Amino acid sequence: MIRVRFAPSPTGMFHVGGARTALFNWALAQQAGGRFVLRVEDTDATRNRPEWTEGILSALAWIGISDESPVFEGPFFQSAFEPQHREAVAKLLADGKAYYCDCTRDQLQERTGSEHKGYDGFCRDRGLTEGAVRFRTPDEGVTVVDDLIRGRVEFPNDAQEDFVIARSDGSPLYVLANAVDDITQGVTHVVRGEEHLGNAQRQELLWPALGANPPVWAHLPVIVNEQRKKLSKRRDKVALESYREEGYLAEAMVNYLMLLGWGPGEDREIMPWSEMMPLFKLENVNSASAFFDEKKLRAFNGEYIRALPPEEFVKRVEPWLDPDWDRATFAKVAELAQTRVAVLSEISANVDFLFLDEPFFDQASWDKAMKGPAAEILGGYLARLEKADMDPESLKTALEEVGAEHGLKLGKAQAPVRVAITGRTVGLPLFESIEALGRERSVARLRAALE
Ligand code: GLU
Repeated sequence: MIRVRFAPSPTGMFHVGGARTALFNWALAQQAGGRFVLRVEDTDATRNRPEWTEGILSALAWIGISDESPVFEGPFFQSAFEPQHREAVAKLLADGKAYYCDCTRDQLQERTGSEHKGYDGFCRDRGLTEGAVRFRTPDEGVTVVDDLIRGRVEFPNDAQEDFVIARSDGSPLYVLANAVDDITQGVTHVVRGEEHLGNAQRQELLWPALGANPPVWAHLPVIVNEQRKKLSKRRDKVALESYREEGYLAEAMVNYLMLLGWGPGEDREIMPWSEMMPLFKLENVNSASAFFDEKKLRAFNGEYIRALPPEEFVKRVEPWLDPDWDRATFAKVAELAQTRVAVLSEISANVDFLFLDEPFFDQASWDKAMKGPAAEILGGYLARLEKADMDPESLKTALEEVGAEHGLKLGKAQAPVRVAITGRTVGLPLFESIEALGRERSVARLRAALE
């Protein structure tokens, strides 16, 4: 049975790259009827915070990864397994596969040569009984990490020093803890970010030393921004939570994240999880860096929003509506709004004109729209609006007529009216907006604009 794991460190907001790794693992577990182990790697007490763990669990649940599925196991916490990590260190020592080293920092500096990169193994056969614990690495040959995505990666052993697996206070190091947990949890496939390829070299040595066959390795390509730089917390919007708060739909996010380094083929892109999941193959993941294209994600989200059944849209958009706004009034324009918003948080700017006593105002929109014969258009339309039929078709004909009187096509004639009615230069279709706002309020707004 395939057993994969996702092993986040709770040291910050949950990153879109982490979400991609989790989803790739999730697809593998689900398609094979395997298991997905969630292991929170919380051993770095100085950098972990419980709220980050909460954030990870809730973000994972949002993208569909939770214990509601029988393939999910956990969450487990690495810190709980410290006894096993210590035991593993003791066993490696007893087997002669690791040794104590009491070199001081200065001594280490001296013993770190250039021909054997790193520590020269001075303490290997000194028979010490305390100090830091180092793993005895082979001096010759190569360590091969057979990676499903990157192919056969060879690491010359003479460039790998005897690395530390436990500090002199006995506390085990991360590279060891990670391998021990993977072994104990029966992990068959380690699928994680490319930045861990260096750990794989050492873990490829640790696994057999701990009595286990190394897993199938797959290191996922880095995710880069528009400037082809690795996505970073400081430069880029990377927290899954911020996308959620902005009104991205989980299903659009999932779909988009799955395409970072992989695709279902035949140029297909928009595809629900249920169809995508069985098609996913590690072998088809590209090793080249993957561009996180926010514009494309936005476009995806717009498509997903438009595809929702109208009543589902109303439900999803609810948290972005002001609690004071009358829902029956909103219902009049909900379907129109659904075609216009790319992220749910845009709803407010599209419909607030219906609820505010005076429409939103900004000078730039006003200046842009109120030029040329704007006043004449507003005046002429106002006169017609007082008696026009309040259906979009009639409202449109009326404005066409006013525009024609001033040599303006409908598009141009709409601009001042739209700003007078909604306060904005873009938004829902104008005549439907006027219909929804009603004659009295629309007339009042045109009047106010003329003052
Ligand atoms: N805890 C590591 C991280 O968050 C993952 C290690 C692994 O997947 O092996 O980057």
